[in-house]
Amino acid sequence: MTMNSIYATRRAQLAQAIGPHGIAIIPTAPEQQRNRDSDFPYRADSYFYYLTGFTEPKAWLVLTGDGSSTLFCQPKDVEREIWDGYRLGPDAAPAALGVNAAFSSAELDAKLPALLDGRDAVWYAFAVHKALETRVDGWLSSLRARVRYGSLTPQTQRDLCGVLDEMRLVKDPSEQATMRRAGQISAAAHIRAMKTSAKMLRAGKEVREYHLEAELLHEFRVNGSQFPAYGSIVAAGANACVLHYRADKGLVRDGELVLIDAACELDGYASDITRTFPANGRFTGPQRMLYELVLASQQAAIVATKAGARFTDPHDAAVQVLAQGMLDVGLLDKNKVGSLQDVIEKRAYFPFYMHRTGHWIGMDVHDCGDYTEPSELGQVSTRQDALTGELIKDRPARILRPGMALTIEPGIYVRPGAGVPEQFHHIGIRIEDDAIVTTTGCELLTRDVPVSVADIEALMRA
Ligand code: MG
Ligand code: ZN
Repeated sequence: MTMNSIYATRRAQLAQAIGPHGIAIIPTAPEQQRNRDSDFPYRADSYFYYLTGFTEPKAWLVLTGDGSSTLFCQPKDVEREIWDGYRLGPDAAPAALGVNAAFSSAELDAKLPALLDGRDAVWYAFAVHKALETRVDGWLSSLRARVRYGSLTPQTQRDLCGVLDEMRLVKDPSEQATMRRAGQISAAAHIRAMKTSAKMLRAGKEVREYHLEAELLHEFRVNGSQFPAYGSIVAAGANACVLHYRADKGLVRDGELVLIDAACELDGYASDITRTFPANGRFTGPQRMLYELVLASQQAAIVATKAGARFTDPHDAAVQVLAQGMLDVGLLDKNKVGSLQDVIEKRAYFPFYMHRTGHWIGMDVHDCGDYTEPSELGQVSTRQDALTGELIKDRPARILRPGMALTIEPGIYVRPGAGVPEQFHHIGIRIEDDAIVTTTGCELLTRDVPVSVADIEALMRA
């Protein structure tokens, strides 16, 4: 399939979903100013890109239920193009993108009421694009003003997110190929950072978190990645226990661990990798003990990731291993917290493992898609949270199907506290890989970077 036919297929699928008399309006993302005269790097809206493959700003896709697509885009403008770069323009858009018609985005307000005329429902993403609702209101009211001339106003407005999120949740072969390549680039970046850390320390140089971040960014970009998929975390020593730490200027010390959670975005698709490694290339005893525990918990979660399993199964499998390990190494005292079952029921592991084991990944690093099973929405139960006492609504978790993509990322974070063995203080470890669910299990996209103790030590020795 050519890329254009992939987008055409998606548009046809969407047209089917909104019904023959529906109309969908999909704007791309706005440009964002960073500070005076300087914008953030532009990135297209994920929904818009998914349906068009078009990356210019100020563009809109309008799709009608009969399968006809209209693009509104920036008009050709020699002077603006001298300053801001090439524009495709409406004349070239139908051939280049496979849409049926294209107009200048300046014509949006003039054309939309006529496009809406006679449609039964207007679909757009609710609560996503700032002021879009107001914009739609304006088009509907100008259409209604013409009611005496026989125009018909749509009776319903519907949220496009549900339909598009379901489509995006299952990755097609071309998406999987892009995600595989993004995973390979990110893995190479982690290897580069690991090697640099050991090499600089061996040479007696001062190593700071930003030195390692620079290696990551270099590897992303030199392989054609457009952006990091999210703000890189490079956390040396105790900084690893701050979950949303960023790469800063912290000193990378011989004998401490470094946690790196960083990965690239490639052609609109994210990857997401975390590795934790000894700055000098050799794990100490206590570091190794906790590392092996997190790795075993990740392995249990990987085994639990397969078609037919629930989204929560990998998390439950990881928690089982982590909780038992915390009892075994003395992070938790059985005389105080009781058995493994008690630890899990009362969430006594929470001070050391306070996040979930994964999330959907795709165009967005925390990708769209319901985490509850749509075929079982009616089955709601209520339970009281063991730690907060809060009443929580439980709905059956999503059943995994081939082509869904998710991360598997257990961790352990030890802050000093009463009864916490000193040898583990300030150790923070997370191991994260990206997986695509297959019929028999899952494919890991990010294993080009070593994960075992022996392989990490061997890599960093070389
Ligand atoms: Mg991550
Ligand atoms: Zn993640």
